[in-house]
Amino acid sequence: MNKIVIISAPSGSGKSTLISKLMQNDELSLEFSVSATTRQPRGQEVNGKDYYFLSQAEFLSHIACDDFVEYEQVYEGRYYGTLRSELDRIFSKGNNIIFDVDVEGGINLKQKFGEKALSVFIQPPSVEELRRRLVNRGTDSDEEIEKRVQKATTEMQRKGMFDCVVVNDELKKANDELTALVSDFLLK
Ligand code: ADP
Ligand code: 5GP
Repeated sequence: MNKIVIISAPSGSGKSTLISKLMQNDELSLEFSVSATTRQPRGQEVNGKDYYFLSQAEFLSHIACDDFVEYEQVYEGRYYGTLRSELDRIFSKGNNIIFDVDVEGGINLKQKFGEKALSVFIQPPSVEELRRRLVNRGTDSDEEIEKRVQKATTEMQRKGMFDCVVVNDELKKANDELTALVSDFLLK
């Protein structure tokens, strides 16, 4: 049976870094769920690989057709969501799905999929360190970083809604811990 792994965290906590590492483990047969978004591509991001980059009109039309399993206006005027067609695409190949979604999205997906899903909250060591990582990543404006840091404070209060919490302080330790949790869920 296909299973679902949900990774959520405040932006900048290291979700993408940890997910890339986890996906190198072939034994887990994990395929990344590519979300749709109305934000602009940044850096080397590729349409169809990192996100399906949609216009606001396209995104709203998918909402009207009930095409999303889950969607959120993660930041004001900025939509993100998972298309049902994306889940069909991955499940039809017999793979497990890994989601990188915001905290609200993670809680909603867990409610939807129940025992079929493992939800993991990635916690940054502190809000100050989170800000430092976002600044060092160098992909967002100062204004964007402030928005993300402000949101992080409320998001951290919701970690109890997840099946487990992994603190991403030392990367290798967090990676080992996450690999153990996910392997246990998928392979047992
Ligand atoms: P997210 O996907 O949660 O927004 P990223 O994976 O992009 O976060 O990580 C944010 C930044 O922090 C990146 O520049 C990444 O290289 C760095 N980073 C990730 N984990 C750690 C860690 N344990 N220690 C220091 N820097 C980290
Ligand atoms: P970013 O702009 O940094 O790529 O993503 C911003 C936030 O949106 C991250 O927390 C990311 O996990 C979240 N996100 C990405 N795709 C989805 C999705 O399909 N649904 C929800 N709810 N959040 C998403």
